[in-house]
Amino acid sequence: MKIVRFVWKNGPQYGLIEKNEVYAIMGDIFGDFERGERVGPLSEIQLLAPCTPTKIVAVGRNYAEHASEMQSDVPTEPLIFLKPPSAVVGPGEVIVYPPISQRVDHEAELAAVIGRRARDVPASEALNYVLGYTCANDITARDLQCKDGQWTRSKSFDTFCPLGPWLAVGLDANDLTIECRVNGAVKQKSRTSRMIFPITELICYITQVMTLEPGDVILTGTPAGVGSLQPGDRVEVEIEGIGVLENTVAYRHHNE
Ligand code: MG
Repeated sequence: MKIVRFVWKNGPQYGLIEKNEVYAIMGDIFGDFERGERVGPLSEIQLLAPCTPTKIVAVGRNYAEHASEMQSDVPTEPLIFLKPPSAVVGPGEVIVYPPISQRVDHEAELAAVIGRRARDVPASEALNYVLGYTCANDITARDLQCKDGQWTRSKSFDTFCPLGPWLAVGLDANDLTIECRVNGAVKQKSRTSRMIFPITELICYITQVMTLEPGDVILTGTPAGVGSLQPGDRVEVEIEGIGVLENTVAYRHHNE
């Protein structure tokens, strides 16, 4: 099942995709819901980021080849940081290149979206707390990350967390291909089975620290091949069984 969030009549609305048609969801995607009226063909619907997190918990260096390319050690326990909800944009939206950075990188990542309140969850039960999965791009101002010595500024610019295009529900995410393309050229290509800490262990680890709410997002780390983006670029994150998240990069327009 695929759940989308989209622009409709009076505002954002959740829907289901069936045979490339979108149907409104009546009810609560985190509880009981049913299929409502047909909205239209998927190709004509303006999609939004598929969830509205209260927080985005991201994991650094969760693929050994990426830790190696950053000249970093492989962590012995998950290395977590936060991205703010204000950084979220949806499929097709612009990633705004900040004037105070000279180096902005793509990081293709599998995102797990939480389905019910989670606290102190054992790894053996962790998947019961996941509603579904989507594609994410953990955009990073690499020069500022190095300069600051911690990651808040570099990871938190508005538009630095593209999510989408929809939530894949009922997907086994343990061994999926994950790829990042810039202007059509493959830059990152790996499999989610190469994560150092799997999703179940990440949920256990994170929920020992903080309560996760429905709609919260875990970014599970990026494989090797991160590299810079330039204004005018088109960047795609594709994950098997989910789909393609596509965004463009631009300087902010003067009158915005
Ligand atoms: Mg990352």
